[in-house]
Amino acid sequence: MSHLDQAAPPSGPRGRHAIDVQWFRKELEQQRGFRLDQLTDLSYEAAGVADDVQGEVITALMTGARTALADIDAALFRLAIGAFGVCQRCGRAIPADRLEAIPMAGLCLPCQYAKESHRPAPDIVEVWGIDSFPASDPPANW
Ligand SMILES: [Zn+2]
Repeated sequence: MSHLDQAAPPSGPRGRHAIDVQWFRKELEQQRGFRLDQLTDLSYEAAGVADDVQGEVITALMTGARTALADIDAALFRLAIGAFGVCQRCGRAIPADRLEAIPMAGLCLPCQYAKESHRPAPDIVEVWGIDSFPASDPPANW
C-alpha cells in the first residue's frame, strides 16, 4: 500500500520556484468548501444557542472561519492574476515548503513574523503597497 498518491505536493525539482497552479487551486477550493460548510453549520448552531458562553464560542468560531475564507479567496485571486507565491509585503518568492503547508499564505516567514510582532519588515520593496492588496485584510463582517 502506497500513500504517496495522497496529497502529493507540486511536482518539479525542489528548490525551484515552480508553482503548480492546478494543485494549489484544487487545494484552496477544497479548503474553501470546508469553510463554507463550517459557516453553514455554525449559523445553524447560532440559531439554537442556549446561553451567552456558547454564543460567544460560536461567534469566535465564525469569525475565524470568515477570516480563513477571506484568506483563501485572496489566495485564489492571487492565483488568478498570476501573483500567487509572491510575498505581498517584500515581493520575494514565498518558499514552496511554506506554500504547500499553508496555500493561503500571502507573506513570506520574515514578513509574517514582522507583521505579528507589529514591526516593519526589513527591506520592504513596494510591490503592492503595504495593505493595499484586495481582500488581504477584509472587513470583520465580510
Ligand atoms: Zn516577505
